[in-house]
Amino acid sequence: MVIEHDSAGAAQPADSSAPAATAVVAEGAGIEVANLEVVYNDVVLVLRGVSLSVRPGTVVALLGANGAGKTTLLRAITGLLPVHRGRVTKGSVTLAGRDITRRDAAHRVRAGLAQVMEGRRIFAELTVDENLRTGAYTNRAALADNHERVMDLFPVLRQRRRQTAGYLSGGEQQMLAMARALMSSPRLLLLDEPSLGLAPLVVEQIRDLVVDINAQGTSVLLVEQNATMALSIAHEGFVLEHGRVVRHGPSDELLADKDIREFYLGMSQVVERRSFRDVKTYRRRKSWGV
Ligand code: ATP
Repeated sequence: MVIEHDSAGAAQPADSSAPAATAVVAEGAGIEVANLEVVYNDVVLVLRGVSLSVRPGTVVALLGANGAGKTTLLRAITGLLPVHRGRVTKGSVTLAGRDITRRDAAHRVRAGLAQVMEGRRIFAELTVDENLRTGAYTNRAALADNHERVMDLFPVLRQRRRQTAGYLSGGEQQMLAMARALMSSPRLLLLDEPSLGLAPLVVEQIRDLVVDINAQGTSVLLVEQNATMALSIAHEGFVLEHGRVVRHGPSDELLADKDIREFYLGMSQVVERRSFRDVKTYRRRKSWGV
Protein backbone atom coordinates (compact mmCIF):
# COMPACT_ATOMS: atom_id res chain seq x y z
CA MET A 1 0.00 0.00 0.00
CA VAL A 2 1.27 3.49 -0.83
CA ILE A 3 1.27 5.92 2.08
CA GLU A 4 0.82 9.64 1.65
CA HIS A 5 1.13 12.41 4.21
CA ASP A 6 -1.62 14.95 4.73
CA SER A 7 -1.04 18.65 5.28
CA ALA A 8 -0.76 18.18 9.04
CA GLY A 9 1.93 15.60 8.40
CA ALA A 10 -0.09 12.57 9.48
CA ALA A 11 0.51 9.42 7.44
CA GLN A 12 -2.54 8.47 5.36
CA PRO A 13 -3.20 5.36 3.33
CA ALA A 14 -3.33 6.44 -0.34
CA ASP A 15 -6.54 4.46 -0.71
CA SER A 16 -9.00 6.45 1.35
CA SER A 17 -11.09 3.46 2.37
CA ALA A 18 -9.37 3.51 5.77
CA PRO A 19 -11.79 3.90 8.69
CA ALA A 20 -12.59 7.45 9.70
CA ALA A 21 -11.53 8.69 13.10
CA THR A 22 -14.27 8.08 15.66
CA ALA A 23 -12.46 8.75 18.83
CA VAL A 24 -11.61 10.67 21.77
CA VAL A 25 -8.04 11.08 20.62
CA ALA A 26 -5.75 13.50 22.33
CA GLU A 27 -3.80 15.71 19.95
CA GLY A 28 -0.43 14.14 19.09
CA ALA A 29 2.45 15.34 21.21
CA GLY A 30 6.06 15.80 20.22
CA ILE A 31 9.00 14.42 22.16
CA GLU A 32 12.48 15.82 22.32
CA VAL A 33 15.38 13.73 23.58
CA ALA A 34 18.52 15.81 24.01
CA ASN A 35 22.04 14.54 24.52
CA LEU A 36 20.86 11.60 26.63
CA GLU A 37 23.24 9.35 28.54
CA VAL A 38 22.01 6.20 30.27
CA VAL A 39 23.92 3.91 32.60
CA TYR A 40 22.88 0.48 33.93
CA ASN A 41 23.99 -0.71 37.37
CA ASP A 42 25.98 2.53 37.72
CA VAL A 43 28.69 1.15 35.42
CA VAL A 44 27.46 0.16 31.95
CA LEU A 45 27.15 3.23 29.72
CA VAL A 46 24.60 2.33 27.03
CA LEU A 47 23.32 5.61 25.56
CA ARG A 48 26.11 8.07 24.76
CA GLY A 49 24.57 11.42 24.02
CA VAL A 50 21.45 10.50 22.02
CA SER A 51 19.36 13.29 20.51
CA LEU A 52 16.10 12.45 18.73
CA SER A 53 12.81 14.18 18.17
CA VAL A 54 9.31 13.17 17.15
CA ARG A 55 7.35 16.13 15.83
CA PRO A 56 3.68 16.28 16.89
CA GLY A 57 1.47 14.12 14.67
CA THR A 58 4.30 12.29 12.92
CA VAL A 59 5.64 8.73 12.77
CA VAL A 60 9.35 8.33 13.44
CA ALA A 61 11.21 5.07 12.82
CA LEU A 62 14.05 4.08 15.14
CA LEU A 63 16.34 1.51 13.54
CA GLY A 64 19.41 -0.22 14.87
CA ALA A 65 21.11 -3.57 15.31
CA ASN A 66 20.63 -5.74 18.38
CA GLY A 67 22.10 -4.14 21.46
CA ALA A 68 22.28 -0.68 19.86
CA GLY A 69 20.21 0.77 22.71
CA LYS A 70 16.74 1.13 21.16
CA THR A 71 14.83 -0.45 24.06
CA THR A 72 16.96 1.50 26.53
CA LEU A 73 15.97 4.73 24.77
CA LEU A 74 12.28 3.75 25.02
CA ARG A 75 12.76 3.00 28.74
CA ALA A 76 14.34 6.42 29.24
CA ILE A 77 11.34 8.02 27.53
CA THR A 78 8.70 6.06 29.47
CA GLY A 79 10.46 6.26 32.84
CA LEU A 80 10.95 2.50 33.18
CA LEU A 81 14.75 2.61 33.55
CA PRO A 82 14.73 2.22 37.36
CA VAL A 83 12.94 -1.15 36.99
CA HIS A 84 16.02 -2.32 35.06
CA ARG A 85 18.58 -0.67 37.39
CA GLY A 86 19.25 2.00 34.82
CA ARG A 87 19.31 5.78 35.13
CA VAL A 88 19.75 8.91 33.06
CA THR A 89 23.10 10.48 33.91
CA LYS A 90 22.98 13.33 31.40
CA GLY A 91 20.59 15.03 28.98
CA SER A 92 16.83 15.49 28.97
CA VAL A 93 13.48 14.16 27.75
CA THR A 94 10.82 16.75 26.94
CA LEU A 95 7.19 15.84 26.16
CA ALA A 96 5.06 18.57 24.56
CA GLY A 97 7.48 21.19 25.84
CA ARG A 98 7.62 19.88 29.45
CA ASP A 99 10.75 18.35 30.94
CA ILE A 100 9.82 14.83 32.13
CA THR A 101 13.37 13.50 32.60
CA ARG A 102 12.94 12.98 36.37
CA ARG A 103 9.22 12.15 36.36
CA ASP A 104 8.04 8.65 37.22
CA ALA A 105 6.41 6.29 34.73
CA ALA A 106 2.85 6.85 36.02
CA HIS A 107 3.19 10.61 35.57
CA ARG A 108 4.37 10.09 31.98
CA VAL A 109 1.37 7.88 31.17
CA ARG A 110 -0.94 10.58 32.52
CA ALA A 111 1.00 13.12 30.43
CA GLY A 112 0.18 11.13 27.28
CA LEU A 113 2.84 8.45 26.75
CA ALA A 114 2.05 4.79 26.13
CA GLN A 115 4.39 1.97 25.21
CA VAL A 116 3.80 -1.40 23.58
CA MET A 117 6.73 -3.49 24.71
CA GLU A 118 8.60 -5.98 22.60
CA GLY A 119 7.12 -9.47 22.87
CA ARG A 120 3.46 -8.33 23.23
CA ARG A 121 3.15 -8.53 27.00
CA ILE A 122 -0.55 -9.09 27.34
CA PHE A 123 -2.20 -10.78 30.33
CA ALA A 124 -2.57 -14.24 28.81
CA GLU A 125 -5.04 -15.53 31.41
CA LEU A 126 -7.39 -12.53 31.12
CA THR A 127 -9.97 -12.01 28.38
CA VAL A 128 -9.53 -9.46 25.60
CA ASP A 129 -11.96 -7.06 27.31
CA GLU A 130 -10.24 -7.47 30.69
CA ASN A 131 -6.88 -6.70 29.05
CA LEU A 132 -8.34 -3.56 27.54
CA ARG A 133 -9.70 -2.44 30.90
CA THR A 134 -6.21 -2.71 32.44
CA GLY A 135 -5.02 -0.19 29.83
CA ALA A 136 -7.61 2.36 30.95
CA TYR A 137 -6.50 2.74 34.56
CA THR A 138 -5.30 6.34 34.07
CA ASN A 139 -8.36 7.33 32.06
CA ARG A 140 -11.47 5.62 33.45
CA ALA A 141 -13.74 8.44 32.34
CA ALA A 142 -13.07 7.71 28.66
CA LEU A 143 -13.16 3.92 29.03
CA ALA A 144 -16.37 3.34 27.08
CA ASP A 145 -15.44 5.72 24.25
CA ASN A 146 -11.92 4.37 23.97
CA HIS A 147 -13.23 0.80 24.05
CA GLU A 148 -15.44 1.59 21.05
CA ARG A 149 -12.59 3.34 19.31
CA VAL A 150 -10.23 0.36 19.59
CA MET A 151 -12.96 -2.10 18.62
CA ASP A 152 -13.50 -0.05 15.43
CA LEU A 153 -9.76 -0.03 14.75
CA PHE A 154 -9.30 -3.74 15.51
CA PRO A 155 -12.53 -5.53 14.44
CA VAL A 156 -10.95 -8.92 15.11
CA LEU A 157 -10.77 -8.00 18.82
CA ARG A 158 -14.50 -7.27 18.83
CA GLN A 159 -15.13 -10.82 17.63
CA ARG A 160 -12.81 -12.19 20.32
CA ARG A 161 -13.66 -9.85 23.18
CA ARG A 162 -14.66 -12.59 25.65
CA GLN A 163 -11.89 -14.97 24.63
CA THR A 164 -8.87 -15.68 26.84
CA ALA A 165 -6.04 -13.59 25.41
CA GLY A 166 -3.48 -16.39 25.61
CA TYR A 167 -5.41 -18.29 22.91
CA LEU A 168 -5.16 -15.46 20.35
CA SER A 169 -2.74 -15.76 17.42
CA GLY A 170 0.54 -13.84 17.55
CA GLY A 171 -0.84 -11.10 15.30
CA GLU A 172 -4.02 -10.80 17.35
CA GLN A 173 -1.98 -10.57 20.55
CA GLN A 174 0.07 -7.76 18.98
CA MET A 175 -3.15 -5.97 18.07
CA LEU A 176 -4.42 -6.45 21.63
CA ALA A 177 -1.19 -5.00 23.04
CA MET A 178 -1.58 -1.96 20.76
CA ALA A 179 -5.28 -1.63 21.58
CA ARG A 180 -4.56 -1.78 25.31
CA ALA A 181 -1.99 1.01 24.96
CA LEU A 182 -4.57 3.15 23.13
CA MET A 183 -7.01 2.81 26.05
CA SER A 184 -5.09 5.55 27.91
CA SER A 185 -5.66 8.03 25.01
CA PRO A 186 -1.92 8.49 24.42
CA ARG A 187 -0.59 11.51 22.57
CA LEU A 188 2.59 9.60 21.73
CA LEU A 189 2.67 5.84 21.21
CA LEU A 190 5.97 3.96 21.50
CA LEU A 191 6.02 0.64 19.64
CA ASP A 192 8.90 -1.77 20.28
CA GLU A 193 9.28 -4.16 17.33
CA PRO A 194 5.57 -4.79 16.65
CA SER A 195 6.30 -6.92 13.57
CA LEU A 196 8.73 -9.30 15.28
CA GLY A 197 7.96 -12.93 14.52
CA LEU A 198 4.79 -12.22 12.52
CA ALA A 199 3.91 -13.53 9.03
CA PRO A 200 4.28 -11.00 6.15
CA LEU A 201 0.52 -10.57 5.74
CA VAL A 202 0.10 -9.82 9.44
CA VAL A 203 3.04 -7.39 9.30
CA GLU A 204 1.13 -5.52 6.58
CA GLN A 205 -1.95 -5.37 8.82
CA ILE A 206 0.10 -4.03 11.72
CA ARG A 207 1.70 -1.44 9.42
CA ASP A 208 -1.72 -0.27 8.19
CA LEU A 209 -2.95 -0.04 11.79
CA VAL A 210 -0.01 2.18 12.73
CA VAL A 211 -1.00 4.43 9.80
CA ASP A 212 -4.63 4.51 11.01
CA ILE A 213 -3.59 5.29 14.60
CA ASN A 214 -1.38 8.13 13.38
CA ALA A 215 -4.11 9.41 11.06
CA GLN A 216 -6.34 9.70 14.14
CA GLY A 217 -3.79 12.11 15.62
CA THR A 218 -1.39 10.05 17.75
CA SER A 219 2.34 10.58 17.24
CA VAL A 220 4.30 7.33 16.95
CA LEU A 221 7.88 6.30 17.70
CA LEU A 222 8.33 2.96 15.96
CA VAL A 223 11.29 0.72 16.84
CA GLU A 224 11.69 -1.87 14.12
CA GLN A 225 14.10 -4.44 12.73
CA ASN A 226 11.88 -4.44 9.65
CA ALA A 227 13.28 -1.24 8.14
CA THR A 228 11.25 -1.51 4.93
CA MET A 229 8.02 -1.59 6.87
CA ALA A 230 9.03 1.16 9.28
CA LEU A 231 10.45 3.59 6.70
CA SER A 232 7.52 3.03 4.33
CA ILE A 233 5.18 4.70 6.83
CA ALA A 234 7.49 6.97 8.84
CA HIS A 235 8.06 10.64 8.14
CA GLU A 236 11.59 10.48 9.53
CA GLY A 237 14.02 7.87 10.72
CA PHE A 238 16.94 7.58 13.14
CA VAL A 239 19.61 4.87 13.15
CA LEU A 240 21.17 3.99 16.48
CA GLU A 241 24.52 2.20 16.74
CA HIS A 242 26.42 1.49 19.97
CA GLY A 243 24.32 4.01 21.84
CA ARG A 244 24.75 6.86 19.34
CA VAL A 245 22.60 8.22 16.52
CA VAL A 246 24.64 7.60 13.37
CA ARG A 247 22.06 8.57 10.75
CA HIS A 248 18.84 10.50 10.70
CA GLY A 249 16.68 12.18 8.09
CA PRO A 250 13.46 11.93 6.08
CA SER A 251 12.39 8.34 5.49
CA ASP A 252 12.68 8.51 1.72
CA GLU A 253 16.30 9.65 2.04
CA LEU A 254 17.07 6.81 4.42
CA LEU A 255 15.34 4.32 2.12
CA ALA A 256 17.63 5.51 -0.68
CA ASP A 257 20.76 5.43 1.53
CA LYS A 258 23.23 2.84 0.25
CA ASP A 259 24.36 1.66 3.73
CA ILE A 260 20.80 1.29 4.94
CA ARG A 261 19.81 -0.60 1.82
CA GLU A 262 22.71 -3.00 2.26
CA PHE A 263 22.38 -3.33 6.03
CA TYR A 264 18.60 -3.60 6.34
CA LEU A 265 16.77 -3.82 3.06
CA GLY A 266 19.10 -6.42 1.54
CA MET A 267 18.41 -8.54 4.61
CA SER A 268 15.00 -9.58 3.39
CA GLN A 269 16.50 -12.36 1.26
CA VAL A 270 18.54 -13.54 4.24
CA VAL A 271 15.43 -13.58 6.43
CA GLU A 272 13.81 -15.98 3.99
CA ARG A 273 16.75 -18.34 4.04
CA ARG A 274 17.84 -18.22 7.66
CA SER A 275 16.37 -18.18 11.11
CA PHE A 276 15.84 -14.90 12.92
CA ARG A 277 18.69 -15.80 15.30
CA ASP A 278 21.12 -15.94 12.32
CA VAL A 279 19.89 -12.58 11.08
CA LYS A 280 20.38 -11.03 14.52
CA THR A 281 23.93 -12.43 14.69
CA TYR A 282 24.72 -11.06 11.24
CA ARG A 283 23.45 -7.65 12.26
CA ARG A 284 25.44 -7.67 15.47
CA ARG A 285 28.67 -8.27 13.54
CA LYS A 286 28.07 -5.38 11.19
CA SER A 287 28.70 -1.79 12.18
CA TRP A 288 28.03 1.64 10.77
CA GLY A 289 30.66 4.14 9.79
CA VAL A 290 29.79 7.36 11.64
P1 ATP B 1 17.51 -5.60 20.97
O1 ATP B 1 16.95 -5.39 19.61
O2 ATP B 1 18.38 -6.80 21.07
O3 ATP B 1 16.49 -5.52 22.07
P2 ATP B 1 18.30 -2.87 21.59
O4 ATP B 1 18.82 -1.98 20.53
O5 ATP B 1 16.90 -2.68 22.03
O6 ATP B 1 18.55 -4.38 21.20
P3 ATP B 1 18.96 -2.62 24.39
O7 ATP B 1 18.04 -3.73 24.80
O8 ATP B 1 18.60 -1.24 24.73
O9 ATP B 1 19.27 -2.69 22.82
O10 ATP B 1 20.39 -2.94 24.99
C1 ATP B 1 21.50 -2.07 24.79
C2 ATP B 1 22.67 -2.56 25.65
O11 ATP B 1 22.32 -2.42 27.02
C3 ATP B 1 23.01 -4.02 25.43
O12 ATP B 1 24.41 -4.15 25.46
C4 ATP B 1 22.37 -4.71 26.62
O13 ATP B 1 23.09 -5.86 26.98
C5 ATP B 1 22.49 -3.65 27.70
N1 ATP B 1 21.43 -3.76 28.68
C6 ATP B 1 20.10 -3.75 28.45
N2 ATP B 1 19.40 -3.86 29.61
C7 ATP B 1 20.33 -3.94 30.59
C8 ATP B 1 20.26 -4.06 32.04
N3 ATP B 1 19.08 -4.12 32.67
N4 ATP B 1 21.41 -4.13 32.71
C9 ATP B 1 22.61 -4.07 32.08
N5 ATP B 1 22.76 -3.94 30.74
C10 ATP B 1 21.63 -3.88 30.00
